[in-house]
Amino acid sequence: MFVLDPGWTSALPDDLPPMPSLVSREAWQAKPGNAALMKRHRIRSITLHHTGTAQRPDLSLERKLFNLQLFSQREDQLAGGRTKPAWGDVPYHFYISTDGRIGVGRELEYAGDTNTSYDPTGHALIVVEGMLDSETFYPAQQASLRRLVLALAARYRVPGNRLGGHKDFAQTDCPGQKIMDELPWLRRAVRDMSDRS
Ligand SMILES: [Zn+2]
Repeated sequence: MFVLDPGWTSALPDDLPPMPSLVSREAWQAKPGNAALMKRHRIRSITLHHTGTAQRPDLSLERKLFNLQLFSQREDQLAGGRTKPAWGDVPYHFYISTDGRIGVGRELEYAGDTNTSYDPTGHALIVVEGMLDSETFYPAQQASLRRLVLALAARYRVPGNRLGGHKDFAQTDCPGQKIMDELPWLRRAVRDMSDRS
């Protein structure tokens, strides 16, 4: 169940773009997040990522999120010898798999985590599965990304100019050129939506 922040729902217009259907944390058998390792925040931006790893259409979204949480909640060695600390939960708030299904990751009330040098406080983080410079950005992923971004932007009143890709904030190739190429459409759609309300 997607829970809206009770502080402002009453002020939202009736014609919000609907939230797309989401695969709940219960459905992928999420362990509880460790609140001691996370920080509460309020969403002011939406930031797009790719997983940067080879697509696995043979694995279910549920399995991929379960595995991602195992990795996220333990300390680990990264390529290049750096150590990733244990995180409170998966680093992203939403995960879009190759089939276009959308999984709920970290609860939105908590800021995400990153291995790069930017502060994700205030950002709703969406990750799209794949290496999206070279692999296919599937139409089902594109459709889900568009629906999710519009629904979040409307609910959190995020303007088009606060919608970006990871590389807008840190030195990284993330989210891949295919997602960066999607940003102009998304920004325009968000702007058109806020012009109407
Ligand atoms: Zn990223």
